[in-house]
Amino acid sequence: MAETPLQILNRVFGYAAFRGQQQAVIERLLQGGDALVLMPTGGGKSLCYQIPALLRPGVGLVVSPLIALMQDQVDALRQLGVRAAFLNSSLGRDQAEAVERALLNGQLDLLYVAPERLLTERFLAFLDRLPVALFAIDEAHCVSQWGHDFRPDYVQLDVLHQRWPQVPRVALTATADAPTRREILTRLQLPDHAQFVSSFDRPNIRYRVIEKHNPRQQLVEFLRREHPQDAGIVYCRSRRGVEETAEFLCAQGFQALAYHAGMTAEQRRTHQARFLREEGLITVATIAFGMGIDKPDVRFVAHLDLPKSLEAYYQETGRAGRDGLPADAWMTYGLGDLVTLRRFIDQSQAEPQFKRLETHKLDSMLGFCETTECRRQILLNYFGEQLPEPCGNCDTCLEPVPTWDGTVAAQKALSCIFRTGQRFGASYLTDVLLGKNNERIRRFRHDRVSTHGIGRELSADQWRSVYRQLVAGGLVAVDIEGHGGLRLTQASRPLLRGERGIRLRQDPDQNTQKRAARTPLAAAPSDPEAHALWEALRNHRRTIAQQLDVPAYVVFADATLREMLAHRPRNRAEFAKINGVGQVKLERFADGFLEVLNAHQSAFDHRNTGGPEH
Ligand code: ADP
Ligand code: ZN
Repeated sequence: MAETPLQILNRVFGYAAFRGQQQAVIERLLQGGDALVLMPTGGGKSLCYQIPALLRPGVGLVVSPLIALMQDQVDALRQLGVRAAFLNSSLGRDQAEAVERALLNGQLDLLYVAPERLLTERFLAFLDRLPVALFAIDEAHCVSQWGHDFRPDYVQLDVLHQRWPQVPRVALTATADAPTRREILTRLQLPDHAQFVSSFDRPNIRYRVIEKHNPRQQLVEFLRREHPQDAGIVYCRSRRGVEETAEFLCAQGFQALAYHAGMTAEQRRTHQARFLREEGLITVATIAFGMGIDKPDVRFVAHLDLPKSLEAYYQETGRAGRDGLPADAWMTYGLGDLVTLRRFIDQSQAEPQFKRLETHKLDSMLGFCETTECRRQILLNYFGEQLPEPCGNCDTCLEPVPTWDGTVAAQKALSCIFRTGQRFGASYLTDVLLGKNNERIRRFRHDRVSTHGIGRELSADQWRSVYRQLVAGGLVAVDIEGHGGLRLTQASRPLLRGERGIRLRQDPDQNTQKRAARTPLAAAPSDPEAHALWEALRNHRRTIAQQLDVPAYVVFADATLREMLAHRPRNRAEFAKINGVGQVKLERFADGFLEVLNAHQSAFDHRNTGGPEH
C-alpha cells in the first residue's frame, strides 16, 4: 500500500508533524491541483513539493534560478536517501548525459533545473518522453517585472501549463506583497483559489535597533557578547564600508569575508561557498549578497546602515534563523543614515511619483526605527497583517522605551536652525545650543545668536537624538544642496508657535544599554556540561561533513543537534525518535553520534561518582 504524506515525512525526513500549510499544499498537489505557496523564509516550502514528488509517479521538476545552491540542495536530499540530481551550466557534457539517462530509466524522484535549460526546445521535447510528477517553480517572484529579482526566462514558464496541462504546478515564494502575488498568478496562469498564504511573522527573530555611535565598535561588542562563534551577515551600504568592516572584524579576531558587486565573480563565488559550507563565518556584504542564501543556521543579521525600505529590511533580516532557532536582527541607526537616504531620494532624477513612493517607503522604515511600540507589530502591519498582542521578542517589548515631553527642547532645536540661517547640520547646531565657543562658531558669529548656550540642560547625544527624531518625523527637512544642512518645514511652525507639543523617545544611553544587555540568545546552551556536549556533537558533525564534502547542516541541522542534547538518546531506538532523524540518516549516522553521546555521558557519570579528580 502506498505511504501517506505523513509517513513519508516521518520515514524520509524524520519529522514528527507538518507545519502550517504544508499538508494542505501537499494534498492539493496529490489531487492534481495547482498551488501558489507564500511562506516566509524558513517556513518549510521545500517539503511542499518534495513529498508529492516522492508520492506521484514520475520525476518532480524543480525550476530554480539559484544555480549555486542546486548542488547543496541535491546533496541534502541524497543524504536523506532521495534520488535527486540537477541540470545546469556547471555540469560537463558527460555528467549532463548521465542525468538524462537516469531520467529516462526512471531513476530520479527530483530534478533541479535552471529555467534557461528547461526552456530549450530540446529539453522540452525530452520531457515529453518522461512521466512528470509535478513542476515546482521556486523563487516564483522572479516573474515580477517590477521586482528586484526579475528573470526574463521566468515569464516564459507558462509554457509548462500549455504543454502539460494535466501536470500539477506549484509556485513558491517568500515575497509577501500583494502586487507581486497577483503578478505571479497571472503570468503563470494559476487559478485564484490556488493560493496558500501563511503568516509572515518570524517569531524566532528578535528585532533590535540601537542608536548609532561608533557602529563597528558597537557591532563587535554585540558579537562578543551574544554571538562569539556564530555565522551571520553584516550589511553595509557601500563597498568601502563592507571592506573596512570586514577588515575590522578580522583584526578583532572574527572570521569575516567581504561580498559586494565590485569583486570578481570568482571571488564572490568562493566567499559565498565558504559562508555556506564552513561554520561560524561572518559575511560582510552590500545588498548584492542575498537571494537564496539557503543557510539554515545564520544566527544574526546586522545592519550597520539603514535599509531603504521595510521590504528590504524584512528580506535581509529574514535570512537569519531559517532553522527556527533563536536569531537576532540587530541594527544601528542614526541621524546620518536618515540624511543620506533623504538626499539620495531628493537628488535622484526619477519621476516625482516615484520619489513620493520612495519617500513613503523611507518614512515607514523610520517609523519602525523610532517607534516606542512593538516592532513586530509595525513590521507585520506594513505587510497588511495584524498581530493582536505585542510580541515580547523585540527590544521595545523587552525593555519598554520611556518617552519625555520634548516640546521645549524641540522649540530650542528648531529656533536654533532658524537663527543660524537654515544651512547647518545637527552637530554644529548642537555645539551652538551647548554654547561652545570654537573657531567655526566665532567665524559665523553664532556665539552672538540668541540660541547660543540655551541648551546646556541636555547632552550632545541627547540633542542629536532630538534632531534625529525631528527629521524622522518630518518636522525638519534635510537640505539637498548642502551637506546635511537642516531647515524648517511647514510642519515645524505649529510646534515653534507652541500650538502643539511633542513627545520624544528617550534613547537609552550607551552605558545603560551595555548593562541592560540581555542574556545571549545563542543556539548553544550556556550550562557548561551541556555546552561541552554541544561542542562534541558539532565537532563530530563537522568531521562527517568534511568526509562527505557537504555543508554541516546537510548532516544534521542545529535544531536536530539541540534535540539530541535535550533528549540524550542512548541507543538506536531512542535516536530514531529525534526530530530530523529519518531512516537513512539513522543508518548512516546514528552509531557515530551515539558514540559521542555515550562517551560524554560516561565521562560525566565518572566525574559525579567520585572519579580521580575528587
Ligand atoms: P524555506 O524554503 O521555506 O525557506 P525550508 O524548506 O528550507 O524553508 O525549511 C526550513 C527548515 O525547516 C529546514 O531545515 C527544514 O528541514 C525544516 N522543516 C521543514 N518542515 C518541517 C517540519 N514539518 N518539521 C520540522 N522541520 C521542518
Ligand atoms: Zn515586540
